[in-house]
Amino acid sequence: MEIYLDNSATTRQHDEVTEKMSEIMKECYGNPSSLHRMGLDAEKVVKEARKNLASSIGASPEEIFFTSCGTESDNTALFGSLKKNKRKIITTRVEHPAILEPCKRLEEMGYEVSYLDVDRDCNISLDQLKSFLTEDTALISVMAVNNEVGKIFPLKEIAKIRDQVDKSILLHTDAVQALGKMDLKVSGVDLMSASAHKIHGPKGMGMLYVRQGVNIKPYILGGGQEKHFRSGTENVPAIAGFGLAAKMAEPVDPSLKEYLKKGLLDGLDDILINSPLDSISSILNVSFLGTRGEVILHSLEQEGIYVSTGSACSSNKAAKGSHVLEAMGLSFKEIEGAIRFSFSNYNTLEEMDYVLDKTINAVKRFRKLGAFR
Ligand code: PLP
Repeated sequence: MEIYLDNSATTRQHDEVTEKMSEIMKECYGNPSSLHRMGLDAEKVVKEARKNLASSIGASPEEIFFTSCGTESDNTALFGSLKKNKRKIITTRVEHPAILEPCKRLEEMGYEVSYLDVDRDCNISLDQLKSFLTEDTALISVMAVNNEVGKIFPLKEIAKIRDQVDKSILLHTDAVQALGKMDLKVSGVDLMSASAHKIHGPKGMGMLYVRQGVNIKPYILGGGQEKHFRSGTENVPAIAGFGLAAKMAEPVDPSLKEYLKKGLLDGLDDILINSPLDSISSILNVSFLGTRGEVILHSLEQEGIYVSTGSACSSNKAAKGSHVLEAMGLSFKEIEGAIRFSFSNYNTLEEMDYVLDKTINAVKRFRKLGAFR
């Protein structure tokens, strides 16, 4: 049996998406910039995908720009928003490295970055946000959903505070874990990043929503594709795959997470549920105290179950402890025993019974050894 519960790292591509992409690769290989019929056919494919993505977030097609991945979209939003007299970014301590690493670089370049703290439930403080907002703030960047614990952040409230202080401050959200998985609308947000491979689309495909009227600098310069905002010949098959995946996307059935959570709480002592109550249905993060997440991960792997210890979508894998759980105030032992289960609608409740059985056994076996007690 193979049970894939690492859907926040990436998802299985829908067969329909693969078929569509394969058809386009074979039949529609023109360059959308070409003036002849084959170019126009490719352009039509891109146009349809843009429409699908726009409608999935309540935007208009002119506001959608295709990129190579969520990481590129995040980098574009950060680097493109800064100006001579607007040198400050406000973000959170629990962002993905696609935000935190460019922030580090910007600090090295002399820009200022303020990091919002989180509490044990991964809440930010809106008062702290207010206190960080200054005249030279260019951008607030707060993720829509955290990739490790699934916390849903209050973008509407953040936008309200920004509006009260200074409407010209841009609000960006990294919605890589949110697109297609919850009701996600762009109202109040100026910039939004998303990625295709988290919603059963192709890897290496992303988008950045840029609200009409918002003027940020392009990050990649060249031949002027995407209205001069993102140069480089369009990846037409992947764009088509992204468009279809967005159209097909549905929130993950919440009963999977609830069933697994209840089963783990009933079957084991000394566990911590790290995903707060207001977390997305696709992510459940649990600390099994007195164990090591990495060892549990490999025991489960031997049973055909694939999970993650923290954030496997950054390449340092389990080498470092989770900066998210650390920011939430968990102790080293609590972080060490953490496992992230992440679901898709390809998972079933029957699978959860098997996962429960194998996880409870693996944890009990580990604890019996007493190695880390
Ligand atoms: N932001 C978040 C919240 C993520 O979970 C990921 C996952 O990889 C990324 C950004 C990066 O997206 P991509 O893999 O498309 O570069």
